[in-house]
Amino acid sequence: MAYANENIALVAGGAGFIGSHLTDALLARGWRVLGLDNFITGRYENLRHLEREPRFDLIEADVTDPPPARLTRSGCRLSYVFNLACAASPPHYQANPEHTLMTSVVGTHHLLALAQAHAARFLLASTSEVYGDPQVHPQQESYWGHVNPTGPRACYDEGKRAAETLTFDYFRAKRGDARVARIFNTYGPRMRADDGRVVSNAITQALSGDDITIYGSGDQTRSFCYVDDLVEGLIRLMLHEGDYRGAINLGNPAELKVKELAEQVVRLTGTHSAISYRPLPVDDPRRRRPDISIARKVLGWTPQVPLPVGLKRTIAHFAEVAAREAAQLPLTKRRTRREKSGAPAGELRGPAAG
Ligand code: UDP
Repeated sequence: MAYANENIALVAGGAGFIGSHLTDALLARGWRVLGLDNFITGRYENLRHLEREPRFDLIEADVTDPPPARLTRSGCRLSYVFNLACAASPPHYQANPEHTLMTSVVGTHHLLALAQAHAARFLLASTSEVYGDPQVHPQQESYWGHVNPTGPRACYDEGKRAAETLTFDYFRAKRGDARVARIFNTYGPRMRADDGRVVSNAITQALSGDDITIYGSGDQTRSFCYVDDLVEGLIRLMLHEGDYRGAINLGNPAELKVKELAEQVVRLTGTHSAISYRPLPVDDPRRRRPDISIARKVLGWTPQVPLPVGLKRTIAHFAEVAAREAAQLPLTKRRTRREKSGAPAGELRGPAAG
């Protein structure tokens, strides 16, 4: 299946939220893509539109296992390996913490060896979680972080920190070319409704008229990057030919309080949902905003999609999925948004057009 001079990428985590958007963007560039996923949080649904795409193939496998024979046999030639394989929302990565840690450590180890065997360039999708609950604000790549190594977030945070270590040692040992992206909070269509993150929760709750859950006071901050912007940054980083080899923050520096995000979702959906306050999870970072000076300078990258625009697109996607799912339910189980919200007829607006 390989042709000379053809770009062939392996996207580990290809059925996930970001992985599936990255796959689409690489295919749009004319590349061939092999997606690999264990479908723990990735979904076939995210790739269904590629069923008839001859330049795309999907392998079901877990990166904690040695790569399947299909990727190691002589006829297979990869030019790029993107490692996005890992559950990334706190409830999902904490559901099986040991597997989360192994996914980052053993999985990255396997994929680095695979990249070396193919002489392929490697990119690790790391995370802003490597900064933990940061004591430096905004977070620059030079900051070493403030992570609790024994807390419930450690399986993800320490796993990604170890994955970075493995990647930099691989590069220092001259085994191959490697890059590390530290991804800050990202949102957009194809997030799972049950992801448990603030954007997906707030939109799902608003659309179904349920209370919007805010953990803690809602004064903690995050900076939300639209998925298309993030994917553009990942591709630029992978294709970058300059000398810079440090980790690079990719995220939108527009910082806001979590309760302000909820207010925006309420406004854009026109919901009657109330806010319901819940306890703040353990080790929940209080502030987070990327310093993206390096990404701007080295990659010429800066996010383009403002939050209200990205939120409208995401809300439209969630509304469409909810409508499709409702249409598949037997009539007796259907509950309209109006019934759930208790809003009088005519008072529920749909999502505003993007
Ligand atoms: N959060 C919230 N309500 C929710 C889900 C999350 O208030 O329904 C808070 C969470 O405690 C955190 C912020 O929103 O302070 C972002 O959480 P998320 O899980 O989206 O990502 P994180 O940055 O924590 O990985």
